[in-house]
Amino acid sequence: MSLNLIKQRKRLSLHSRRRFIRRSSLLLSASLVTACQRSFQTRPFQASDNPAAIGDSEAQAQRLPPTPTCGDYSLTPSQTPGPFYSPDSPQRQSLLAADTVGTRLVVSGQVLTTDCVPLANSLVDVWQTNDKGEYDNTGNNFRGHQFTDAEGRYWLETVVPGLYPGRTRHLHVLVQATGRPVLTTQLYLPDEPENEGDFLFQRELLMTVHNADEGKQAQFDFVLP
Ligand code: FE
Repeated sequence: MSLNLIKQRKRLSLHSRRRFIRRSSLLLSASLVTACQRSFQTRPFQASDNPAAIGDSEAQAQRLPPTPTCGDYSLTPSQTPGPFYSPDSPQRQSLLAADTVGTRLVVSGQVLTTDCVPLANSLVDVWQTNDKGEYDNTGNNFRGHQFTDAEGRYWLETVVPGLYPGRTRHLHVLVQATGRPVLTTQLYLPDEPENEGDFLFQRELLMTVHNADEGKQAQFDFVLP
């Protein structure tokens, strides 16, 4: 065999090997893609896919309120002011006096737009009964107004309002942000036996309430149009 013929055969053999390797790689990649696609298409979703679900129970998930996201807030429903509103309440964050009787209740939250924009300097005016379910219609006991801070926050210290005939425990609130309509509404406490029988009670107006070292801590955000 001539030297030229040997070189030509070597070149051909090298060329065939390269073509074989290239074809094999292409085939392997194609099979891998198909296998992955098939696996994504057919494998059902499993609880273990969600790390948050591991060790979690459905019961626990049901106990937790949904986390509000910006743009997801719905407007706070309005309710009647009733006959006991007085327009000249003192500006203060605590409605407690030295001789106040009752379970301390701290209510805090924000005044927001439906897009979660905090409404600074909004008026939050609260009036309620004392621990025994009595309104002060001659003075300003359990009446007070304040203005939200730069982040739209308010903070109120009072007592858990008492019961009076026909009504469950509630706080009356008037909220007004600059250039927006007045919101008059009422706030309620969860797990009160009288809630269901109250003709004005609305679930959307329930505060989130926790027992604290001294009384109860409540949270409620007002959302204005
Ligand atoms: Fe009332």
